[in-house]
Amino acid sequence: MIRARDLRVRLDGTLIVDGVDLDVARGEWVMVIGPNGAGKSTALRAIGGLLPYTGVVELNGRPVDSLQRRERAKTIAMVNQTPTVPPGMRVLDYALLGRTPYIAPLGRESAADVAAVEEVLESLDVAQFAGRRLETLSGGERQRVFLARALAQGAGILLLDEPTSALDIGHQQEVLELIDRLRAERGLTVLATMHDLSVAGEYADRLVLLSSGAVAAAGTAREVLTEENLAKHYRVRVRVIEGEHGPLVVPVRG
Ligand code: ADP
Ligand code: MG
Repeated sequence: MIRARDLRVRLDGTLIVDGVDLDVARGEWVMVIGPNGAGKSTALRAIGGLLPYTGVVELNGRPVDSLQRRERAKTIAMVNQTPTVPPGMRVLDYALLGRTPYIAPLGRESAADVAAVEEVLESLDVAQFAGRRLETLSGGERQRVFLARALAQGAGILLLDEPTSALDIGHQQEVLELIDRLRAERGLTVLATMHDLSVAGEYADRLVLLSSGAVAAAGTAREVLTEENLAKHYRVRVRVIEGEHGPLVVPVRG
């Protein structure tokens, strides 16, 4: 599980994350929403131990900055907003990068590592691309491979920064359903950022609305996705209507 208290992150002297408290229980899915530049990606990277911060960040009860690199990689896996695609790299080799924390320095992956990765590729329905170069895949296929690399890490906590922003609604739904299924099957704890507010509300157990680096609202979708909150923090006029699985946010012209 994740516990952050009074999390602050400074980038080049500017306070970007300004005192965030956040909890994600084991097996829970929490979605961070908020306007562009609110500090979502920065907060996520700090929680993943990739940026210096002040305050408390604990993963399974241990401070993230006390974990050695390998140990951290076995605890938490992250998919960045725009992962870099190493040119010419094949899907299998890319997914094998997820096994790095299990491979001795200068060592090679074992048959067990390859088997673990093949199983993950299979479960994400991308095994047929194993030999293909990553850049030849479609956006949706590639996103599933990014996810495969993260899952191959075998970490119980998953950080996903806008995992579906590059996808059409069909692939978006496919990836989100998949994450939800994996969460149920593997008991994963998921913290993700997301732009589509209705979709965020549908999949998350709880939402955290970040605005100017601080938590502006937190709770269930019904509590957070209000016309008032969205008008205030996104400067947008919306109607919030009741959908089958919670509130649906519809922008309306002024
Ligand atoms: P979000 O993911 O919510 O869109 P980010 O966490 O990416 O927001 O960025 C938050 C803010 O931090 C933005 O205003 C961005 O311009 C700023 N920022 C990002 N990197 C740096 C940096 N290295 N130095 C100063 N400001 C930065
Ligand atoms: Mg971002």
